[in-house]
Amino acid sequence: MYLLCKSLAVRDVRDFAYRLAAFFFLLGSLLMMAPRAQAGAYEAKLPDDLHTAKDLCALVPCADVFPAASSFSPRMGQPPYVEAYGTAEAGKKKLLGYVMLSTDITDTPAYSGKPVVTLIGMDVTGHFTGIKVLKHSEPILLLGIPESALLKFNQQYVGKSVTDKIEVGQTRADEGVLGVDAISGATVTVIAQNQVLMTSGAAVARQVGIMAPVVREAAHYAVTGQHYSWEQLVKEGALQKVQVKNEQLGLEHSDTPFIELWFGDLNHPDIGRSLLGDNSWNNLHSQLKPHEHALFVIRTAGKESFKGSGFVRGGIYDRVQVKQGGDSFTFRDLDYLNLYGIAADGAPAYTESAIFVIRSKGFSASYPWKLSFLGNRIDRATGSKSFTSFDTAYWMPASYLEGGRPQIEEAAAPWVRVWKSKALEITLFALLLVAVSVVYAFREKLTRLSTHKNKWPVNAFKYSAWALSIGFVGFGAMAQPSITQVLTWFHALLFQWTWSLFLTDPFIFLFWIFIIVTVFLFGRGLFCGWMCPFGSLSEAMYKLGGLIGLKRFQGHLPRVWHDRLKWVKYGIFFGLLTISVFSMGLAEMLAEVEPFKTTFLVGISHRAWPYGLFVCTLLGLSLFIERPYCKYICPLGASLAMPSTFRWFGLRRKQDCNSCKACAVGCGSLAIDAAGRIDHRECLHCLDCMVLYTDVKACPPLAKERKRRERDGLEITAIGRDGYFIPIHPVSVDTVNTVSTKQGPDPRMPTDPVAPPHKAGARGLRWLWLELRDHLWPWSAEGWASQKALQIAGLSLALAVSLAWLLAAMGRLSSAAIIGWWFGWSVYEVLIRLSGRRYVKDGPWWQANYRYASVMDMLSYVGFKNLLIGAVLFLTLKTLGLLLV
Ligand code: SF4
Ligand code: SF4
Repeated sequence: MYLLCKSLAVRDVRDFAYRLAAFFFLLGSLLMMAPRAQAGAYEAKLPDDLHTAKDLCALVPCADVFPAASSFSPRMGQPPYVEAYGTAEAGKKKLLGYVMLSTDITDTPAYSGKPVVTLIGMDVTGHFTGIKVLKHSEPILLLGIPESALLKFNQQYVGKSVTDKIEVGQTRADEGVLGVDAISGATVTVIAQNQVLMTSGAAVARQVGIMAPVVREAAHYAVTGQHYSWEQLVKEGALQKVQVKNEQLGLEHSDTPFIELWFGDLNHPDIGRSLLGDNSWNNLHSQLKPHEHALFVIRTAGKESFKGSGFVRGGIYDRVQVKQGGDSFTFRDLDYLNLYGIAADGAPAYTESAIFVIRSKGFSASYPWKLSFLGNRIDRATGSKSFTSFDTAYWMPASYLEGGRPQIEEAAAPWVRVWKSKALEITLFALLLVAVSVVYAFREKLTRLSTHKNKWPVNAFKYSAWALSIGFVGFGAMAQPSITQVLTWFHALLFQWTWSLFLTDPFIFLFWIFIIVTVFLFGRGLFCGWMCPFGSLSEAMYKLGGLIGLKRFQGHLPRVWHDRLKWVKYGIFFGLLTISVFSMGLAEMLAEVEPFKTTFLVGISHRAWPYGLFVCTLLGLSLFIERPYCKYICPLGASLAMPSTFRWFGLRRKQDCNSCKACAVGCGSLAIDAAGRIDHRECLHCLDCMVLYTDVKACPPLAKERKRRERDGLEITAIGRDGYFIPIHPVSVDTVNTVSTKQGPDPRMPTDPVAPPHKAGARGLRWLWLELRDHLWPWSAEGWASQKALQIAGLSLALAVSLAWLLAAMGRLSSAAIIGWWFGWSVYEVLIRLSGRRYVKDGPWWQANYRYASVMDMLSYVGFKNLLIGAVLFLTLKTLGLLLV
C-alpha cells in the first residue's frame, strides 16, 4: 500500500475517501441484493468411509428419509442398500422398506461434473419415502437459485413409485409419463437428479423383487451343427476374457494377473456342443427348463477364486454376477453345476471352473449382457477398501442368431443430454468465440482505422467482448476457465483421457478449444485481454475507476517492482502443479487463490467472508491498478503465458521502437521493455501499441517523417507493414537492415537473434535430424567447455531418468515416481541448455527464427516439450498396461 500510495501521488485524500466509500457502498448494496441461500450441502464434508462402512446408517441420517423406521440393517446386496425396520412385534422386526445411497449405485454427474450424493428411502411397495441431498457441488444452486429449490424438487418424488415413468416436464397421461416440475435455470441438475433417483430406486427394487425384471424376447438360435475350436469361438466373439491386474485393485505389481477368466454362453447348441462335447451338452440341456440359461466360467490365471467364499456362508456367489440392462442376476449354490471338462480344440488349461444357470425369464441371450467380477479395491493412499466391479461385455455374434442381433436403443449419455438441453446458448457461445477470433485476425484493419485519439474502431469490439464475457459467459453460462481445469487436463493427459469428463461442460469445453488454438496462434492475450470473464471484469473496474473520477489516483507499480512481482504467478502455478501430482484434492483447495468461483459460480454473498473479502480487495485494487490479479497472481494466466512464448503471430514493432518508448508509456500491462520489445507472455492484446504503430500523428518517428515530407512538399505515402511510410523511391531491403542494426537492439524479436552454428545451411532430412536432435539432446560442445560439472551431473541424471522410464516400462515404478523424476530432469535440462544451447525458436516451429533464450523462455520450452514427450511415453506405457496406477 505504501508503494501504491507513493506511486499514485495522492493529493486529495478526502475526495479519494469519499469516492471510495461511495463505490464500496454501491458494491455492498449489489451484493446484498443477490439472493441468499442455505449452503448446507454445498461441498459438504462426508465421512471418509461412507462408501465402505458396513453400518451406513451410523454415518448418515437414514431416519430422515425413512421416518417410520426405528432401526436399520447393515449394508447388504449388490448394489448395496439397507433394510428399514419398524418396531419389533412378537420379537420380530417388521421390514418397512429400504434406504440407499445414490453413489453406491450410479455416479451420474450433474451440472458441476460431480454426482449429487443423495440418500433415498423407499418402502416395500416401491414408493419413495424421503430424499435427502448429502452433498452437491452445484454452484448454480447457490447463485440465483437457492439450494432449497433442489429440496423442493426432490420432495415431488415422495409418495411416487419407482415403477412410475417419471420425467422432468409435463405429465403426459396418454404416454403414461408422470411429470415433475423442473427448477428453471437448473435443468441439467434436475435431469441428472431424476436419472439418479429412478436408477437407484429401480436397481434396489429389482434386487428385492418389487420390480419384475424386464422381459426380453427369447433368443432364436441359428444352428449349423458345426463344431468350433476354441480359437474360432474367440475370434467370433462367442467367448470373452476378463483380466484384472493387481494394480487395478491397489495391490503390488505382479507379472501374473490377479485373475484371468474366460466365459461364454452354453445354451447355443453350436457353442455348447463345441465347448462341452455332445454328451455333456445334451446332459446339461436336459437339466434346463425352456427359459433357463447356462454359461460357463473358467479361471486361466491368478490364484484368487472367482467363486469366493460367500457361497459357503450364505449360498450366494459374491464374486461374479451377470448384468443385462438394469437387471442383475446373482447365483446361489442351486444355480451352480460342475464343469467337468472343455472339449473344444486348443482350450487353455484352467484351475477353477463353473457352470452357472440364470433362471430368470428376464434374461435373453439375444441381448448384450456383462459378466461382472467384483473385487475389493484398496486405496494405496488411505488404505481404505471399496468394492469395484470389473464388467466385461458379451453379445452373442449376429451369425448365431436367427435374423441377427435385435436393434437396441441406447439411452443418450448424460453429456449428450446436457448439450441438447443448452443447444441455443452453446451455439451463441460458439458464435461469439468465432466472431472474436475473426475480429482479432483482422486486427490490423481495425488498428489502422483507429488513432491514438480515437480508438473506437478497436474498442467497440473489445468492449463488446468484455461485456459479453462478463455478463453472458461469466455470470450467465458460468464458463470461467480455471487453473483446476489445467491440472485436470494435465492429469488426464498423463493418466486417463475420458472425453465424457470434458464434454459434460460444453461451455468450458468450447472455451478450451478456443484458448488452445488462440494461445498458439496469437498468445494468451486474446483470451486474457478480451474473453476472460474475471480479466474483463477487472479491467472494466479500472475503466469505471477512471469514469467515476479516480483517474488521478490510477497508475502502475514502479517498473522495478512489477518486474519482480510478475514472477509470483508463475510460482503459484508451479506450486499448484507440483502439489496436484501428490494430491489433487489439496491442489483444488489451494486453487481458491483464484477468485473465479466466488465471483461467478457461487457468489460473494454465499461464501465465507474471507473469500468475499479477497474478491472485493482484488476488484477494489483494480479501480487503481490495471488488472493487478492478472499481472501478479493468476496461475491460469501463468500457465497460458508459458506456451505464449511460442505464439506464431506476434505484434508488430519497428526498429525505432527501441528508442521511442511512446508505446511503452501507454502499455497498461507493462509488457514493453526498455528496448521496445514486447513480452508476449505479459501482453494482453489491448492493441494500443498497434494503433500507435500506424498513427502518423501520434507515433513519434512517423510524425517526424510526416512533418518532414509536409515541409518539403513530398508525397505522404501509406504506412507499410514494417511500420514506416512506404518509401517514395524503392529502397533495397539490405539498406534498411544495415541502417536498422546500427540503431541498437532489434525490437521486432523478443530477444536478440541467434544462429545455431550446427544448423547453418541444413536442408531436408539433415534439417529434420538436427531438429530432432536439438529437442532430445540438450548437451553441447559449448556447454561442455563452460560447465563441465553441470554437464556431467546432467548426464548422470539423464541415465537415472532413462532407468526410471525403463522401470516404469517394466511396471516397476508408479506414475507419481516417474512424474517426480521427469520434473527433476526437466529442471536439470533447463540448466544444461542455458549453459550451452541457449536459444529457442520464435514463431512457427517449422521456421528457423532462433533467438537468445531468457530463463523463462527456456523454462517454457523445456516444460512444454517434456510435457508432450511425457504424455506420449505415459500413454504408450498405459496402453501396454505397464504403468502402475
Ligand atoms: S490473467 Fe487470469 S484472470 Fe487475468 S485475464 Fe488471464 S486468466 Fe483471466
Ligand atoms: S500496448 Fe502492451 S498490452 Fe497492449 S498490445 Fe501493446 S504490448 Fe500488448
